[in-house]
Amino acid sequence: LTRLRERLSRSQSSLGRGLLALLSRERLDEDTWEEIEDTLIGADVGVAPTQELVETLRTRLRVEGASDPSRARAVLREELVALVDPSMDRSLAATGTDAPGVVLVVGVNGTGKTTTVGRLARVLVADGDQVILGAADTFRAAAADQLQTWGERVGVPTVRGPEGGDPASVAFDAVKTGKEGGYDTVVVDTAGRLHTKAGLMDELGKVKRVIEKQAPVTEVLLVIDATTGQNGLTQARVFAEVVDVTGIVLTKLDGTAKGGIVIAVQRELGVPVKLVGLGEGADDLAPFEPEGFVDALLE
Ligand code: GDP
Repeated sequence: LTRLRERLSRSQSSLGRGLLALLSRERLDEDTWEEIEDTLIGADVGVAPTQELVETLRTRLRVEGASDPSRARAVLREELVALVDPSMDRSLAATGTDAPGVVLVVGVNGTGKTTTVGRLARVLVADGDQVILGAADTFRAAAADQLQTWGERVGVPTVRGPEGGDPASVAFDAVKTGKEGGYDTVVVDTAGRLHTKAGLMDELGKVKRVIEKQAPVTEVLLVIDATTGQNGLTQARVFAEVVDVTGIVLTKLDGTAKGGIVIAVQRELGVPVKLVGLGEGADDLAPFEPEGFVDALLE
């Protein structure tokens, strides 16, 4: 975790350092507040959360005094943590009781969906869960191969179907096998073709329906690439309209200095970031911790 934290702070520290430098200026005049606003918006925090934060900071620093830099830092930390919202439930509902829990992993191709499924399986297995994977992305031949390779690495079976086959039928088979075999969790990879909203809705809706005939979908994780900024948000919105997303996986956070996307995406979807991707390696998926994240920003 320390290593992940280091990696995160390396990519994010420019935001924290920039804000701290601005806040420690002798006079917090209008120009400085504007620069603070620009810095936050530039880091993908989003316009509304930025304005709220600036408003709160201005009020608090006026009342509590901004002359002491360590005080300004403490206030900034508190308000950033509040914005990331530690009260959201970030636990993963991955394990079922009577039937296996089903984790549906959705998102646009290239965001890191398959990698997330593999790495999540690894985490669950380490926790003692019996896991099985479903390769319901039947549109790309490589996707099922890639998932199966992950399965072999982690030591869990992968259920797959013919290339170009029906994704729902693969999902059905995976959950059926999981149920019959007494597994705790089925993690289902899905296709992320954002062709049309109606098409996506049909496809994911059907996948979800056939799964629910056998076991509850306990978690729908939407994978978002942190480096895609506003574009990623637009795509996320479409998915959120199509399925009830229960958690966000923000990948490639190591590849951007714009950590504010965490705040923007939670605000946009009203759903917590539960996991973050901090590299390409097998153990570079970490639970998202609001306080640790903000500390990494301010390091
Ligand atoms: P999918 O098309 O959504 O299934 O995406 P993949 O799982 O195939 O991932 C696309 C690429 O992103 C691969 O090269 C992954 O190694 C890479 N990737 C996934 N997650 C992360 C991450 O957290 N950080 C970095 N740097 N790369 C990642």
